[in-house]
Amino acid sequence: MTHDTGTPALRIDLGSDTSTRPTPGMLQAMIAAPLGDEQMGEDPTTRALEERTADLLGQESAVFLPSGTMCNQIALLVHCRPGDEIICAQQAHVYGSEGAGAAALAGAFIRPVEAPGGIFDGEAVARALRPERPRAPRSRVVVVEQTSNRGGGAVWPLATIADVSRRARACGLALHMDGARLLNAVVASNVEARDYGRLCDSVWLDFSKGLGCPVGAVLAGPRDFIAEAWTWKHRLGGAMRQSGILSATCLYALDNNVARLAQDHDNARLFAARVAQIEGVRLTFPRVETNIVFIDVRETGRTAPDILRGLRLQGIRLSLEGEHTLRAVTHLDIRADDVEQAASALAAVLRAAPQVATS
Ligand SMILES: *Cc1c(COP(=O)(O)O)cnc(C)c1O
Repeated sequence: MTHDTGTPALRIDLGSDTSTRPTPGMLQAMIAAPLGDEQMGEDPTTRALEERTADLLGQESAVFLPSGTMCNQIALLVHCRPGDEIICAQQAHVYGSEGAGAAALAGAFIRPVEAPGGIFDGEAVARALRPERPRAPRSRVVVVEQTSNRGGGAVWPLATIADVSRRARACGLALHMDGARLLNAVVASNVEARDYGRLCDSVWLDFSKGLGCPVGAVLAGPRDFIAEAWTWKHRLGGAMRQSGILSATCLYALDNNVARLAQDHDNARLFAARVAQIEGVRLTFPRVETNIVFIDVRETGRTAPDILRGLRLQGIRLSLEGEHTLRAVTHLDIRADDVEQAASALAAVLRAAPQVATS
């Protein structure tokens, strides 16, 4: 991270829902947490979080991990043997944003499928399967990402996941859910997390996204799956000690930060409605279902990096998704007034002359 002097302080960070800071209530929960050695099974706070998350996700057991990426990678390590094939959407985080971990760690490879809005159905799984021949790779696991990040926060309908689950299981494949933003889907769809979760053979939640925690994710599945996951947690150096100091924030978030995700969704829709009124600006996904907004700036004649620089000079951050695409993500540190300001700033940047790149 560069700290070039002269860049105004960041006031409104729509770059990601990972940018939240712990609230006083959350910090208090950390201070008050009973602690022990997690590796000995002696941290009562982490045990409580694991049990509560397993129950929430309709699974038998769960394990606390440092990150969502480690949840995905450990799940693939448990499900796959070297040479196995993983089916997921071409936009999936596990495909494009985890350093090819599936290949580097599990020795598995990914077969991305076309998925408009990040979502595919049972038919797509069937089409991706190979004829059963000794020389064909063995398809082993299907990954669904709830919500779909690169699908603009789209929610997988329960019926679609049920369809994918049926197809996958009928063919001997496991279904894994990347639930980085599963609770956003729960709040947006009014479907319980366990109703999504029990269709899956493994599923996880990220606490460092919309739930507002600094660190942490929980991977859930059947008891024997989680026992295997523990072996990998040790191998990869993800086994911690007094991790209750972290899991206390996650328990706090489950109590306090779930229902309020609806506000993030309202703010995302408000932001989308405002920016859609700016000349030349279009929404990549006109229907904003959760907390993510993709903005297409091609018709403004300006590039996305140029617009980002202009916004940053006003203390506002969005993220870069492509040469002509920006992403804005709402979260617990963003109020309605912030998105109004950010939309006005975007209009102002587009009226002004392009910024000359300095780096
Ligand atoms: C952020 C994210 C991850 C990875 O989570 P980390 O906690 O950042 O490792 C995985 N999948 C999706 C869809 C994400 O948005």
